[in-house]
Amino acid sequence: MSEQDLAEKIKSGDRRALARGITLVESRREDHRLSAEKLLDLVMPRTGKSIRLGISGPPGVGKSTFIESFGQYLIDAGHKVAVLAIDPSSKISGGSILGDKTRMTELSRRKEAFIRPSPAGETLGGVARRTREALLLCEAAGFDVVIVETVGVGQSETAVAEMTDMFLLLLSPGGGDDLQGVKRGVMELADLLIVNKADGDLAAAAERTASDYAHALRLMHALHEDWQPSVVKCSALKGEGMAAVWDKVQAFRKATNKTGEFESRRRDQAKNGLWQEVSDGLLERLKSDPDLADRLAKLETKVAQRKASPAAAARSLLSSFFKGLGD
Ligand code: GDP
Repeated sequence: MSEQDLAEKIKSGDRRALARGITLVESRREDHRLSAEKLLDLVMPRTGKSIRLGISGPPGVGKSTFIESFGQYLIDAGHKVAVLAIDPSSKISGGSILGDKTRMTELSRRKEAFIRPSPAGETLGGVARRTREALLLCEAAGFDVVIVETVGVGQSETAVAEMTDMFLLLLSPGGGDDLQGVKRGVMELADLLIVNKADGDLAAAAERTASDYAHALRLMHALHEDWQPSVVKCSALKGEGMAAVWDKVQAFRKATNKTGEFESRRRDQAKNGLWQEVSDGLLERLKSDPDLADRLAKLETKVAQRKASPAAAARSLLSSFFKGLGD
């Protein structure tokens, strides 16, 4: 199928075509990469219309249960929901957080939903690049809520926060940050904290946890001039509190739209994406240049043995690289 045909199908909302497009952007083959870029260019005018939500939280907090409930709530309210995952651990485990078919079974049955696991065997940088592109394809296919999920243990939260509009952090009742394995840096990325499992025996603990976190938030400096992060409680299992979360998302959008921050953040993210591609592309070219391979190895040794400074070695390497390009 030509890129043109695939783009048309994606724009018509065809989920199989969307899946195919995402497979194309995930491919490392050079010819696939060129097709993927053509495809992305063709759909670009149709992108940008969704609200992009990052969702994170420690393992077991209830992320998949939450997305299952929240996604269905949104679909019942007339939305189309795409779920993408960033899971650098899939490289090690060989699986991925969304790979397990038992996750989000109800949501995956809805035709207004699209769920895609993280590409396996990639580095965090690679996953982030491809997820950014998958997100654009989902928007072109008409999904107006795109959720990017990540497991809250590594650096992947920053990558997710950098490609989404709003970052939601899920927490369990009881236990301080340390107990929950949530690093302070991750807390600081959050635009909304959600204390999940506020049901049954855990209801009272959820109440306490919510007020502890509300207090902690007051001591942190604000990320946005026009938005103060807050805490809500929910029970993903019972499907309670979904409206409260969605209200917060809409309030966030309204507040950041009013000041222009919503759009300016997206422009910055797109520009950062460009520079990321430029620097990755340069590095790949440089490292795979056969004429430089020998020189690169020698310079590495010299630097390791403190016979040359990293800066001078890099300068000499770059100057031969660019001279080589000019030939
Ligand atoms: P994830 O690892 O963050 O994706 O967590 P899961 O969604 O797989 O949930 C982990 C466990 O917590 C499962 O046994 C869920 O049934 C349970 N769980 C998730 N949400 C809730 C909730 O709202 N209330 C209660 N009581 N349990 C929940």
